[in-house]
Amino acid sequence: MAKEKVAGDALFLSGSLALDLVNTEMIVRRKKRDVLSSPDDLAHWWQAALAHHPEQDSVEGGETPLAWTFDLLEEVKRFRQSLRSLCTYLVEEQSTTIPDLELLNHILSLGYRSVQLTPPGEIIPVYRVYDQQKGRILLPIALSALRLLTEAERQRLHKCRNDRCILFFYDTSKGGTRQWCSLGCLNRSRSIHQYQQRHNGRSHGMRNER
Ligand SMILES: [Zn+2]
Repeated sequence: MAKEKVAGDALFLSGSLALDLVNTEMIVRRKKRDVLSSPDDLAHWWQAALAHHPEQDSVEGGETPLAWTFDLLEEVKRFRQSLRSLCTYLVEEQSTTIPDLELLNHILSLGYRSVQLTPPGEIIPVYRVYDQQKGRILLPIALSALRLLTEAERQRLHKCRNDRCILFFYDTSKGGTRQWCSLGCLNRSRSIHQYQQRHNGRSHGMRNER
């Protein structure tokens, strides 16, 4: 139960759908944890992601249910791995990214922009996908990644400053000074710092007594 809560708190804090997917791999109590370990997990995560990102581009066909298969899970995980390497490149400016960009382009090509007439007669933009099964989940994430790579400010993309944490986030704070993924990581870092200060203070004191 407590474990679920830790995972839940970490899930949608990045400010970006693409980063939220990357963050489904996390460290909980020093152990790597994969939130997407079954097709069911993926279904639950996607429901929550839709609720957390109402601003995402709408993809036509949202009413028909998806088949949550192991194949789909594998596709999503492959994309997640690729997005992690792209984010790491952006943050640390290392490693080659051509295959990762090619995968992103491939996923972007699963859909196309079009127009739709709403019942009240309004014309709205929507995305249509060639492959409903893959496209309806992968395309919105790819579009989010596209915005992150091409429209966002690179210096606002960060990996959490906690060395034991592998989460990424996009800093939307006014001053752009956010360093930790969450209050949890900030507090852990503060308590380590305070412990070190106390510890140093004590050894200092002992030296003075002699
Ligand atoms: Zn963190």
